[in-house]
Amino acid sequence: MREPLVRRMREFGTTVFATMTKLAVETGSINLGQGFPDTDGPERMLQHAIEAVRGGLNQYPPGPGLPELRQAVAEHRKQWYGLAYDPDGEVLVTVGATEAISAAILALCEPGDEVVLFEPYYDSYAAAVALAGAVRRSVTLRVDAGRFTFDPAELEAAITPRTRVILVNSPHNPTGTVFTREELECVARVCQEHDLIAVTDEVYEHLAFDGVEHIPLATLPGMRERTVMISSAGKTFSVTGWKTGWVCAPAPLTAAVQTVKQFLTFTANAPWQVAVAYALREEMEWVAAQRAALQAKRDRLMTGLTEAGFDVLRPAGTYFVQTDIRPLGFEDGLELARRLPELAGVVAIPTQVFYDHPERGRHYLRFAFCKRDEVIDEAVTRLRRLGADVA
Ligand SMILES: *Cc1c(COP(=O)(O)O)cnc(C)c1O
Repeated sequence: MREPLVRRMREFGTTVFATMTKLAVETGSINLGQGFPDTDGPERMLQHAIEAVRGGLNQYPPGPGLPELRQAVAEHRKQWYGLAYDPDGEVLVTVGATEAISAAILALCEPGDEVVLFEPYYDSYAAAVALAGAVRRSVTLRVDAGRFTFDPAELEAAITPRTRVILVNSPHNPTGTVFTREELECVARVCQEHDLIAVTDEVYEHLAFDGVEHIPLATLPGMRERTVMISSAGKTFSVTGWKTGWVCAPAPLTAAVQTVKQFLTFTANAPWQVAVAYALREEMEWVAAQRAALQAKRDRLMTGLTEAGFDVLRPAGTYFVQTDIRPLGFEDGLELARRLPELAGVVAIPTQVFYDHPERGRHYLRFAFCKRDEVIDEAVTRLRRLGADVA
């Protein structure tokens, strides 16, 4: 039989999250690998979903999404960022941000077109680019003054006549960087000079810490018209299993994404849409409290990891901390991630798997802190043994 998987997908085996989560279960390790919270979202939001199911909202909703959610998304964009989107034609509900990203790339890129992304990057990006038959060009985020950032000259150099899209994720997974206005201005300038479309992944929009402001790229002058802005309920409301996301973009861009989306899934799940519409309107105080709690968890984990001997980078947002493993006497994050369950009973993600140039992320391990305090504390206690063994 012919190799079943098409050539363009062969470089993508099982995702590292599935592998590491399986390892965590098999070894009874604490899983600080995959970024999902171990507590629930706001109670009344959950109640809305239950009531929607009980109330019979169980058939296909309209393709672009329930009007109620599109309206709530538009109001949220206006209220938080001053961005006006028409709920009819400029807002599209998707099956999580993941579908939105894939549909956007498939809609915007001809085979051979190029997509610029910042490495390390969220793993679905490379697969979405490959599915479209497009080509990725990665610009490396490097540590400078304690945070991951890019060199504007490298971004400029990544652009070719075939470049169509720049994919921008801020707050950024897996580094925790929140792009500054200056960095975003640089991206905006490149988009405008080369007539590119920006696809923005803003799923951590409400999870920036220390008073750092999340600035949507679409709010910069001249960018709303060329930006496909993507977000989702999963991270904001601690319901990563709901897979309810949305696209906001000018009508022609939204229509393009919707044309693809309708043949991937046609429409998104109805009951969650009602509940998310409710939460966007009524549960932003819960989100603020959640952000404060997450910031405290970040600090808790950072302190513990520092004591365990890692060199820890302070993330300005997201669920994740990056650590340099070299002070502990290790060189290769992939090797350490494989051995960590046996050495310490903890699972983490080797950052190098998010790079096109893995050697550039070789020394880093990513730990998730979106876990209950007692889970973080137990992980830290176990990881301290690692430092003790080395010393
Ligand atoms: C979690 C995550 C997603 C996926 O969002 P869903 O709504 O679950 O599809 C997309 N991008 C980044 C950067 C993420 O961390």
